[in-house]
Amino acid sequence: MKEVRTRIAPSPTGYFHLGVARTALFNFLFAKKNKGKFILRIDDTDKKRSKKEYETDILKSLLWLGIFWDEGPVLKSTNAQTYDQKYLNFEKNYLGNYGPYRESERIEIYKKYLKELLDKNLAYFCFCKKEDLEAQKQAMIVAGQIPKYPGVCRKLSKKEALKRAEKEPFVIRLKVPSKKISFTDLLRGKIEFDLDLIGDFVISKGFEEPLYNFTTVVDDYEMKISHIIRGEDHISNTPKQIILQEALGFSKPKYLHLPLILGEDKTKLSKRHGAISIKELKNLGYLPEAIVNYLALLGWWPKEDVEIFSLKELIELFEINQLQKHSAIFSFKKLDWINRAYIRKLPLEKLTELCQNYFEKEVDFNYLKKIVALFCERLSKISEIKELTNYFFKMPQYPKELLLWKNQSFNDVKKILEDVKKTFLKKEIYEFNKEKILENLKPLTEKYGNGFVFWPLRVALSGEKTSPPPQEIAEILGKEETLKRIEEAIKKI
Ligand code: GLU
Repeated sequence: MKEVRTRIAPSPTGYFHLGVARTALFNFLFAKKNKGKFILRIDDTDKKRSKKEYETDILKSLLWLGIFWDEGPVLKSTNAQTYDQKYLNFEKNYLGNYGPYRESERIEIYKKYLKELLDKNLAYFCFCKKEDLEAQKQAMIVAGQIPKYPGVCRKLSKKEALKRAEKEPFVIRLKVPSKKISFTDLLRGKIEFDLDLIGDFVISKGFEEPLYNFTTVVDDYEMKISHIIRGEDHISNTPKQIILQEALGFSKPKYLHLPLILGEDKTKLSKRHGAISIKELKNLGYLPEAIVNYLALLGWWPKEDVEIFSLKELIELFEINQLQKHSAIFSFKKLDWINRAYIRKLPLEKLTELCQNYFEKEVDFNYLKKIVALFCERLSKISEIKELTNYFFKMPQYPKELLLWKNQSFNDVKKILEDVKKTFLKKEIYEFNKEKILENLKPLTEKYGNGFVFWPLRVALSGEKTSPPPQEIAEILGKEETLKRIEEAIKKI
Protein backbone atom coordinates (compact mmCIF):
# COMPACT_ATOMS: atom_id res chain seq x y z
CA MET A 1 0.00 0.00 0.00
CA LYS A 2 1.08 3.54 -0.75
CA GLU A 3 2.19 5.58 2.26
CA VAL A 4 -0.85 6.96 4.07
CA ARG A 5 -0.66 10.75 4.09
CA THR A 6 -3.54 12.73 5.53
CA ARG A 7 -3.93 16.43 6.07
CA ILE A 8 -6.02 19.22 7.42
CA ALA A 9 -6.11 22.55 5.65
CA PRO A 10 -7.71 25.02 8.03
CA SER A 11 -8.25 28.62 7.02
CA PRO A 12 -6.86 31.08 9.56
CA THR A 13 -10.02 33.16 9.62
CA GLY A 14 -11.06 32.53 13.23
CA TYR A 15 -9.96 30.75 16.35
CA PHE A 16 -9.35 27.03 15.95
CA HIS A 17 -12.60 25.35 16.87
CA LEU A 18 -13.87 21.97 17.90
CA GLY A 19 -15.04 20.95 14.45
CA VAL A 20 -11.62 21.39 12.86
CA ALA A 21 -9.98 19.84 15.90
CA ARG A 22 -12.09 16.72 15.44
CA THR A 23 -11.21 16.56 11.74
CA ALA A 24 -7.56 16.96 12.69
CA LEU A 25 -7.84 14.20 15.27
CA PHE A 26 -9.39 11.68 12.87
CA ASN A 27 -6.81 12.48 10.19
CA PHE A 28 -4.06 12.14 12.77
CA LEU A 29 -5.42 8.86 14.14
CA PHE A 30 -5.85 7.35 10.70
CA ALA A 31 -2.33 8.35 9.65
CA LYS A 32 -0.72 7.10 12.86
CA LYS A 33 -2.67 3.86 12.85
CA ASN A 34 -1.31 3.19 9.37
CA LYS A 35 2.23 4.36 10.16
CA GLY A 36 1.71 7.27 7.82
CA LYS A 37 2.09 11.03 7.99
CA PHE A 38 -0.24 13.77 9.14
CA ILE A 39 0.20 17.10 7.40
CA LEU A 40 -0.87 20.60 8.38
CA ARG A 41 -1.43 23.07 5.62
CA ILE A 42 -2.64 26.60 6.14
CA ASP A 43 -5.29 27.61 3.65
CA ASP A 44 -4.67 31.35 3.76
CA THR A 45 -5.48 32.29 0.19
CA ASP A 46 -8.30 34.51 1.39
CA LYS A 47 -6.06 37.47 2.14
CA LYS A 48 -8.80 39.67 3.51
CA ARG A 49 -10.00 37.29 6.15
CA SER A 50 -6.80 35.43 7.04
CA LYS A 51 -4.87 36.61 10.07
CA LYS A 52 -1.50 35.60 11.44
CA GLU A 53 -2.98 35.58 14.92
CA TYR A 54 -5.40 32.84 13.90
CA GLU A 55 -2.68 30.82 12.24
CA THR A 56 -0.66 30.91 15.46
CA ASP A 57 -3.77 29.85 17.31
CA ILE A 58 -4.19 26.82 15.02
CA LEU A 59 -0.61 25.73 15.61
CA LYS A 60 -0.70 26.28 19.34
CA SER A 61 -4.06 24.58 19.76
CA LEU A 62 -2.90 21.47 17.90
CA LEU A 63 0.30 21.33 19.93
CA TRP A 64 -1.62 21.78 23.16
CA LEU A 65 -3.99 18.97 22.22
CA GLY A 66 -1.03 16.74 21.37
CA ILE A 67 -2.10 16.35 17.75
CA PHE A 68 1.38 16.72 16.31
CA TRP A 69 1.89 17.15 12.59
CA ASP A 70 4.77 15.55 10.73
CA GLU A 71 4.87 18.22 8.06
CA GLY A 72 3.64 21.78 8.08
CA PRO A 73 4.41 25.30 9.27
CA VAL A 74 6.19 25.96 12.54
CA LEU A 75 5.89 28.66 15.18
CA LYS A 76 8.17 31.66 15.11
CA SER A 77 7.97 32.71 18.72
CA THR A 78 10.54 31.63 21.26
CA ASN A 79 8.33 32.18 24.29
CA ALA A 80 6.41 28.99 23.61
CA GLN A 81 9.06 26.94 25.36
CA THR A 82 6.67 24.25 26.44
CA TYR A 83 6.40 22.93 22.92
CA ASP A 84 8.64 20.44 21.24
CA GLN A 85 11.65 22.32 19.86
CA LYS A 86 11.04 21.00 16.38
CA TYR A 87 8.00 23.25 16.11
CA LEU A 88 9.94 26.41 16.98
CA ASN A 89 12.14 28.70 14.92
CA PHE A 90 12.86 26.09 12.35
CA GLU A 91 15.42 27.47 9.91
CA LYS A 92 13.34 26.46 6.88
CA ASN A 93 10.13 27.90 8.30
CA TYR A 94 8.42 24.54 8.00
CA LEU A 95 8.80 20.82 8.57
CA GLY A 96 8.68 18.39 5.65
CA ASN A 97 9.81 18.04 2.05
CA TYR A 98 6.78 19.35 0.22
CA GLY A 99 6.65 22.89 1.49
CA PRO A 100 5.95 25.65 1.82
CA TYR A 101 2.83 24.64 3.71
CA ARG A 102 1.10 28.00 3.65
CA GLU A 103 -0.93 28.48 0.52
CA SER A 104 -0.06 32.18 0.43
CA GLU A 105 3.56 31.12 -0.13
CA ARG A 106 2.70 28.79 -3.00
CA ILE A 107 1.37 31.27 -5.56
CA GLU A 108 4.07 30.49 -8.13
CA ILE A 109 3.15 26.81 -8.01
CA TYR A 110 -0.50 27.60 -8.66
CA LYS A 111 0.39 29.90 -11.55
CA LYS A 112 2.25 27.08 -13.25
CA TYR A 113 -0.82 24.87 -13.16
CA LEU A 114 -3.18 27.68 -14.17
CA LYS A 115 -1.04 28.32 -17.24
CA GLU A 116 -1.04 24.62 -18.02
CA LEU A 117 -4.84 24.48 -17.93
CA LEU A 118 -5.10 27.60 -20.12
CA ASP A 119 -2.52 26.30 -22.59
CA LYS A 120 -4.37 23.03 -22.90
CA ASN A 121 -7.67 24.86 -23.43
CA LEU A 122 -9.10 23.26 -20.32
CA ALA A 123 -9.67 26.63 -18.71
CA TYR A 124 -10.39 30.09 -20.07
CA PHE A 125 -10.36 33.77 -19.17
CA CYS A 126 -13.70 35.24 -18.24
CA PHE A 127 -14.38 38.97 -18.30
CA CYS A 128 -18.04 38.98 -17.37
CA LYS A 129 -19.06 41.73 -14.99
CA LYS A 130 -20.46 40.92 -11.57
CA GLU A 131 -23.72 42.76 -12.28
CA ASP A 132 -24.27 40.87 -15.54
CA LEU A 133 -23.60 37.55 -13.84
CA GLU A 134 -26.05 38.40 -11.11
CA ALA A 135 -28.74 39.41 -13.62
CA GLN A 136 -28.23 36.18 -15.57
CA LYS A 137 -28.45 34.20 -12.38
CA GLN A 138 -31.73 35.83 -11.38
CA ALA A 139 -33.16 35.24 -14.87
CA MET A 140 -32.29 31.55 -14.63
CA ILE A 141 -33.90 31.26 -11.24
CA VAL A 142 -37.04 32.94 -12.52
CA ALA A 143 -37.09 30.53 -15.48
CA GLY A 144 -36.96 27.65 -13.05
CA GLN A 145 -33.43 26.63 -14.02
CA ILE A 146 -30.55 25.81 -11.74
CA PRO A 147 -28.32 28.89 -11.94
CA LYS A 148 -24.90 28.33 -13.44
CA TYR A 149 -22.47 30.27 -15.57
CA PRO A 150 -23.97 30.39 -19.09
CA GLY A 151 -20.57 30.11 -20.75
CA VAL A 152 -20.39 33.55 -22.43
CA CYS A 153 -16.58 33.82 -22.35
CA ARG A 154 -16.05 30.15 -23.18
CA LYS A 155 -16.85 31.15 -26.73
CA LEU A 156 -14.14 33.82 -27.00
CA SER A 157 -11.24 32.99 -29.26
CA LYS A 158 -7.96 32.44 -27.48
CA LYS A 159 -6.38 35.34 -29.31
CA GLU A 160 -9.09 37.76 -28.29
CA ALA A 161 -9.10 36.52 -24.72
CA LEU A 162 -5.34 36.93 -24.39
CA LYS A 163 -5.55 40.44 -25.75
CA ARG A 164 -8.34 41.46 -23.40
CA ALA A 165 -6.55 39.85 -20.47
CA GLU A 166 -3.73 42.36 -20.90
CA LYS A 167 -6.05 45.26 -20.11
CA GLU A 168 -9.16 43.97 -18.40
CA PRO A 169 -9.58 42.29 -15.05
CA PHE A 170 -10.43 38.62 -15.44
CA VAL A 171 -11.12 35.39 -13.65
CA ILE A 172 -10.14 31.94 -14.84
CA ARG A 173 -12.85 29.35 -15.24
CA LEU A 174 -12.52 25.62 -15.66
CA LYS A 175 -14.25 24.06 -18.64
CA VAL A 176 -16.51 21.62 -16.90
CA PRO A 177 -17.36 18.68 -19.15
CA SER A 178 -20.93 17.59 -19.48
CA LYS A 179 -21.01 14.17 -17.85
CA LYS A 180 -21.71 12.32 -14.63
CA ILE A 181 -18.93 11.53 -12.25
CA SER A 182 -18.83 9.53 -9.06
CA PHE A 183 -16.50 8.74 -6.23
CA THR A 184 -16.52 6.21 -3.46
CA ASP A 185 -16.69 7.81 -0.07
CA LEU A 186 -15.06 5.50 2.48
CA LEU A 187 -17.95 6.07 4.85
CA ARG A 188 -20.93 6.63 2.57
CA GLY A 189 -20.16 4.49 -0.46
CA LYS A 190 -20.73 5.65 -4.03
CA ILE A 191 -21.74 9.28 -4.51
CA GLU A 192 -22.69 10.45 -7.98
CA PHE A 193 -22.84 13.96 -9.42
CA ASP A 194 -24.19 15.38 -12.63
CA LEU A 195 -21.64 17.96 -13.77
CA ASP A 196 -24.30 19.66 -15.88
CA LEU A 197 -25.56 21.15 -12.66
CA ILE A 198 -22.25 22.73 -11.83
CA GLY A 199 -21.25 24.89 -14.78
CA ASP A 200 -17.80 26.36 -15.47
CA PHE A 201 -16.63 27.52 -12.08
CA VAL A 202 -13.99 30.10 -11.22
CA ILE A 203 -10.64 28.64 -10.16
CA SER A 204 -8.70 31.87 -9.85
CA LYS A 205 -9.19 35.61 -9.80
CA GLY A 206 -6.49 36.86 -12.11
CA PHE A 207 -3.31 34.86 -11.62
CA GLU A 208 -2.70 36.13 -8.13
CA GLU A 209 -5.81 34.94 -6.34
CA PRO A 210 -6.33 31.25 -6.94
CA LEU A 211 -9.38 29.85 -5.18
CA TYR A 212 -9.98 27.03 -2.74
CA ASN A 213 -11.02 24.11 -4.96
CA PHE A 214 -8.10 24.68 -7.26
CA THR A 215 -5.38 25.31 -4.67
CA THR A 216 -6.54 22.33 -2.64
CA VAL A 217 -6.31 19.99 -5.61
CA VAL A 218 -2.84 21.24 -6.50
CA ASP A 219 -1.59 20.99 -2.93
CA ASP A 220 -3.11 17.61 -2.20
CA TYR A 221 -1.39 16.30 -5.31
CA GLU A 222 1.96 17.98 -4.72
CA MET A 223 1.94 16.92 -1.07
CA LYS A 224 1.06 13.35 -2.06
CA ILE A 225 -2.05 13.24 0.10
CA SER A 226 -3.53 9.74 -0.03
CA HIS A 227 -6.72 10.23 2.00
CA ILE A 228 -8.86 13.30 2.41
CA ILE A 229 -10.89 13.15 5.60
CA ARG A 230 -12.99 16.24 6.10
CA GLY A 231 -16.43 17.48 7.06
CA GLU A 232 -19.61 16.51 5.26
CA ASP A 233 -20.06 20.16 4.29
CA HIS A 234 -17.32 19.61 1.70
CA ILE A 235 -19.12 16.86 -0.21
CA SER A 236 -20.34 19.39 -2.77
CA ASN A 237 -16.74 20.49 -3.42
CA THR A 238 -15.55 16.98 -4.16
CA PRO A 239 -16.90 16.74 -7.76
CA LYS A 240 -15.25 20.06 -8.57
CA GLN A 241 -11.99 18.79 -7.17
CA ILE A 242 -12.27 15.54 -9.07
CA ILE A 243 -12.75 17.25 -12.44
CA LEU A 244 -9.79 19.46 -11.66
CA GLN A 245 -7.73 16.35 -10.92
CA GLU A 246 -8.87 14.87 -14.21
CA ALA A 247 -8.03 18.06 -16.12
CA LEU A 248 -4.58 18.21 -14.57
CA GLY A 249 -3.93 14.48 -14.96
CA PHE A 250 -3.49 13.97 -11.23
CA SER A 251 -4.00 10.74 -9.36
CA LYS A 252 -7.07 10.79 -7.11
CA PRO A 253 -6.94 10.58 -3.35
CA LYS A 254 -9.52 8.60 -1.37
CA TYR A 255 -12.29 10.56 0.31
CA LEU A 256 -14.10 10.28 3.58
CA HIS A 257 -16.62 12.90 4.68
CA LEU A 258 -17.27 13.04 8.39
CA PRO A 259 -20.73 13.65 9.80
CA LEU A 260 -21.49 17.14 11.04
CA ILE A 261 -21.27 18.09 14.68
CA LEU A 262 -24.56 19.49 15.93
CA GLY A 263 -25.48 21.27 19.12
CA GLU A 264 -28.06 19.73 21.44
CA ASP A 265 -30.76 21.69 19.60
CA LYS A 266 -29.79 19.72 16.44
CA THR A 267 -28.48 22.77 14.59
CA LYS A 268 -24.91 22.98 13.31
CA LEU A 269 -22.50 23.59 16.18
CA SER A 270 -21.55 27.25 16.31
CA LYS A 271 -20.64 30.04 18.69
CA ARG A 272 -24.27 30.24 19.72
CA HIS A 273 -23.83 26.96 21.55
CA GLY A 274 -21.12 28.33 23.82
CA ALA A 275 -17.35 28.13 23.97
CA ILE A 276 -16.34 26.09 20.97
CA SER A 277 -12.84 27.33 20.21
CA ILE A 278 -10.02 25.32 21.70
CA LYS A 279 -8.61 28.51 23.17
CA GLU A 280 -11.85 29.21 25.06
CA LEU A 281 -12.11 25.63 26.26
CA LYS A 282 -8.52 25.82 27.49
CA ASN A 283 -9.27 29.03 29.35
CA LEU A 284 -12.28 27.44 30.98
CA GLY A 285 -10.05 24.72 32.30
CA TYR A 286 -10.80 21.74 30.11
CA LEU A 287 -7.80 19.45 29.91
CA PRO A 288 -6.37 18.64 26.47
CA GLU A 289 -6.60 14.90 27.12
CA ALA A 290 -10.29 15.26 27.95
CA ILE A 291 -11.03 17.30 24.83
CA VAL A 292 -9.22 14.81 22.60
CA ASN A 293 -11.03 11.94 24.29
CA TYR A 294 -14.39 13.58 23.80
CA LEU A 295 -13.70 14.64 20.21
CA ALA A 296 -12.96 11.03 19.33
CA LEU A 297 -16.43 10.10 20.49
CA LEU A 298 -18.04 12.62 18.16
CA GLY A 299 -18.66 10.36 15.22
CA TRP A 300 -16.67 7.31 16.24
CA TRP A 301 -17.53 4.55 18.61
CA PRO A 302 -15.16 1.80 19.71
CA LYS A 303 -16.24 -1.82 19.80
CA GLU A 304 -15.81 -2.15 23.53
CA ASP A 305 -17.97 -0.14 25.83
CA VAL A 306 -15.15 2.07 27.08
CA GLU A 307 -15.32 5.83 27.04
CA ILE A 308 -12.07 7.02 28.54
CA PHE A 309 -8.94 6.55 26.46
CA SER A 310 -5.62 8.26 25.93
CA LEU A 311 -4.39 9.39 22.54
CA LYS A 312 -2.09 6.37 22.44
CA GLU A 313 -4.98 4.02 23.09
CA LEU A 314 -7.04 5.85 20.50
CA ILE A 315 -4.41 5.26 17.84
CA GLU A 316 -4.59 1.55 18.58
CA LEU A 317 -8.37 1.38 18.76
CA PHE A 318 -9.34 3.71 15.93
CA GLU A 319 -10.92 2.05 12.91
CA ILE A 320 -12.40 3.94 10.03
CA ASN A 321 -15.20 1.40 9.70
CA GLN A 322 -16.41 2.27 13.17
CA LEU A 323 -17.19 5.83 12.13
CA GLN A 324 -20.84 6.79 12.13
CA LYS A 325 -22.69 8.34 9.25
CA HIS A 326 -25.23 10.24 11.26
CA SER A 327 -24.50 13.60 12.87
CA ALA A 328 -22.76 13.75 16.19
CA ILE A 329 -24.37 15.74 19.00
CA PHE A 330 -22.05 17.85 21.05
CA SER A 331 -22.89 17.96 24.73
CA PHE A 332 -21.10 20.09 27.29
CA LYS A 333 -22.47 17.80 29.96
CA LYS A 334 -20.64 14.86 28.49
CA LEU A 335 -17.47 16.88 28.00
CA ASP A 336 -17.68 17.96 31.65
CA TRP A 337 -18.06 14.36 32.72
CA ILE A 338 -14.97 13.31 30.79
CA ASN A 339 -13.05 16.33 32.03
CA ARG A 340 -13.91 15.42 35.60
CA ALA A 341 -12.49 11.97 35.06
CA TYR A 342 -9.21 13.47 33.83
CA ILE A 343 -9.05 16.08 36.59
CA ARG A 344 -9.29 13.28 39.13
CA LYS A 345 -6.42 11.49 37.51
CA LEU A 346 -4.10 14.50 37.78
CA PRO A 347 -1.46 14.48 40.51
CA LEU A 348 -2.35 17.09 43.16
CA GLU A 349 0.82 19.07 42.48
CA LYS A 350 0.00 19.43 38.78
CA LEU A 351 -3.69 20.21 39.40
CA THR A 352 -2.70 22.92 41.89
CA GLU A 353 -0.38 24.47 39.31
CA LEU A 354 -3.23 24.61 36.83
CA CYS A 355 -5.60 26.03 39.44
CA GLN A 356 -3.10 28.71 40.38
CA ASN A 357 -3.57 30.30 36.94
CA TYR A 358 -7.09 31.31 37.89
CA PHE A 359 -6.08 33.51 40.78
CA GLU A 360 -5.08 37.04 39.94
CA LYS A 361 -2.79 37.53 42.85
CA GLU A 362 -0.07 35.10 43.68
CA VAL A 363 -1.55 32.69 46.16
CA ASP A 364 0.56 30.57 48.42
CA PHE A 365 1.09 27.27 46.62
CA ASN A 366 0.90 25.05 49.69
CA TYR A 367 -2.21 26.77 50.99
CA LEU A 368 -3.84 26.38 47.58
CA LYS A 369 -2.77 22.76 47.41
CA LYS A 370 -4.77 21.98 50.55
CA ILE A 371 -7.82 23.72 49.11
CA VAL A 372 -7.47 21.93 45.78
CA ALA A 373 -7.24 18.58 47.56
CA LEU A 374 -10.57 19.36 49.17
CA PHE A 375 -12.25 20.42 45.92
CA CYS A 376 -10.70 18.22 43.23
CA GLU A 377 -13.62 15.82 43.22
CA ARG A 378 -16.06 18.67 42.65
CA LEU A 379 -14.41 20.30 39.65
CA SER A 380 -15.84 19.81 36.18
CA LYS A 381 -13.45 22.37 34.81
CA ILE A 382 -10.49 23.97 36.46
CA SER A 383 -11.78 27.54 36.19
CA GLU A 384 -14.48 26.65 38.73
CA ILE A 385 -11.90 26.56 41.49
CA LYS A 386 -11.93 30.35 41.84
CA GLU A 387 -15.62 30.73 42.44
CA LEU A 388 -15.94 27.65 44.64
CA THR A 389 -13.18 28.72 46.98
CA ASN A 390 -13.56 32.47 47.26
CA TYR A 391 -14.02 32.36 51.01
CA PHE A 392 -10.59 30.86 51.57
CA PHE A 393 -9.13 34.15 50.49
CA LYS A 394 -11.39 36.70 52.09
CA MET A 395 -13.83 37.07 54.93
CA PRO A 396 -17.18 35.76 53.62
CA GLN A 397 -20.18 38.08 53.28
CA TYR A 398 -23.63 36.65 54.02
CA PRO A 399 -26.94 37.69 55.59
CA LYS A 400 -27.12 36.73 59.25
CA GLU A 401 -30.30 34.68 58.66
CA LEU A 402 -28.17 32.16 56.83
CA LEU A 403 -26.64 31.19 60.16
CA LEU A 404 -29.92 29.75 61.38
CA TRP A 405 -30.48 26.03 61.18
CA LYS A 406 -34.18 25.05 60.96
CA ASN A 407 -36.09 26.75 63.81
CA GLN A 408 -32.93 27.91 65.55
CA SER A 409 -33.16 31.39 67.11
CA PHE A 410 -30.45 34.05 66.92
CA ASN A 411 -29.92 33.63 70.66
CA ASP A 412 -29.39 29.88 70.27
CA VAL A 413 -26.98 30.30 67.43
CA LYS A 414 -25.02 32.91 69.33
CA LYS A 415 -24.76 30.67 72.35
CA ILE A 416 -23.64 27.71 70.26
CA LEU A 417 -21.03 29.69 68.35
CA GLU A 418 -19.69 31.03 71.63
CA ASP A 419 -19.40 27.48 72.91
CA VAL A 420 -17.61 26.46 69.75
CA LYS A 421 -15.24 29.37 70.17
CA LYS A 422 -14.51 28.40 73.75
CA THR A 423 -13.88 24.84 72.67
CA PHE A 424 -11.40 25.91 70.02
CA LEU A 425 -9.65 28.18 72.46
CA LYS A 426 -8.93 25.31 74.78
CA LYS A 427 -5.25 24.57 74.97
CA GLU A 428 -5.49 20.91 74.07
CA ILE A 429 -6.40 21.47 70.43
CA TYR A 430 -2.91 22.53 69.54
CA GLU A 431 -3.16 20.28 66.50
CA PHE A 432 -5.96 22.03 64.67
CA ASN A 433 -6.95 19.32 62.22
CA LYS A 434 -10.31 17.93 61.18
CA GLU A 435 -10.14 14.85 63.40
CA LYS A 436 -9.25 16.85 66.48
CA ILE A 437 -11.91 19.44 65.69
CA LEU A 438 -14.63 16.79 65.41
CA GLU A 439 -13.46 15.09 68.56
CA ASN A 440 -13.61 18.35 70.50
CA LEU A 441 -16.97 19.37 69.12
CA LYS A 442 -18.53 16.07 70.13
CA PRO A 443 -19.86 17.20 73.53
CA LEU A 444 -21.54 20.16 71.80
CA THR A 445 -23.12 18.12 69.02
CA GLU A 446 -24.36 15.65 71.57
CA LYS A 447 -25.89 18.46 73.55
CA TYR A 448 -27.41 20.53 70.71
CA GLY A 449 -27.62 18.12 67.74
CA ASN A 450 -25.33 17.96 64.68
CA GLY A 451 -27.12 20.42 62.42
CA PHE A 452 -27.42 23.04 65.17
CA VAL A 453 -23.65 23.12 65.56
CA PHE A 454 -22.30 22.31 62.12
CA TRP A 455 -24.62 24.49 60.06
CA PRO A 456 -23.89 27.84 61.71
CA LEU A 457 -20.23 26.99 62.00
CA ARG A 458 -20.05 26.11 58.32
CA VAL A 459 -21.81 29.33 57.36
CA ALA A 460 -19.58 31.37 59.65
CA LEU A 461 -16.55 29.93 57.89
CA SER A 462 -17.75 29.89 54.29
CA GLY A 463 -20.78 32.18 54.01
CA GLU A 464 -22.24 29.56 51.66
CA LYS A 465 -25.28 27.32 51.67
CA THR A 466 -23.24 24.44 50.38
CA SER A 467 -19.59 23.81 51.04
CA PRO A 468 -17.34 21.08 52.39
CA PRO A 469 -17.85 20.21 56.10
CA PRO A 470 -16.77 22.90 58.57
CA GLN A 471 -13.98 20.86 60.15
CA GLU A 472 -12.31 20.56 56.73
CA ILE A 473 -12.58 24.28 56.04
CA ALA A 474 -11.39 25.11 59.55
CA GLU A 475 -8.33 22.93 59.23
CA ILE A 476 -7.24 24.76 56.08
CA LEU A 477 -8.08 28.24 57.40
CA GLY A 478 -6.17 27.52 60.61
CA LYS A 479 -7.20 28.18 64.17
CA GLU A 480 -6.65 31.90 64.20
CA GLU A 481 -8.69 32.65 61.08
CA THR A 482 -11.40 30.21 62.15
CA LEU A 483 -11.80 32.01 65.48
CA LYS A 484 -11.88 35.35 63.70
CA ARG A 485 -14.75 34.20 61.49
CA ILE A 486 -16.70 32.80 64.41
CA GLU A 487 -16.34 36.12 66.22
CA GLU A 488 -17.46 37.92 63.09
CA ALA A 489 -20.60 35.77 62.97
CA ILE A 490 -21.33 36.43 66.62
CA LYS A 491 -20.94 40.14 66.00
CA LYS A 492 -23.41 39.99 63.13
CA ILE A 493 -26.04 38.61 65.50
N1 GLU B 1 -9.83 25.36 4.03
C1 GLU B 1 -10.88 24.39 3.96
C2 GLU B 1 -11.71 24.52 5.23
O1 GLU B 1 -11.21 25.03 6.21
C3 GLU B 1 -10.30 23.02 3.80
C4 GLU B 1 -11.28 22.00 3.36
C5 GLU B 1 -10.64 20.71 2.96
O2 GLU B 1 -10.28 19.95 3.86
O3 GLU B 1 -10.47 20.49 1.78
O4 GLU B 1 -12.86 24.15 5.28
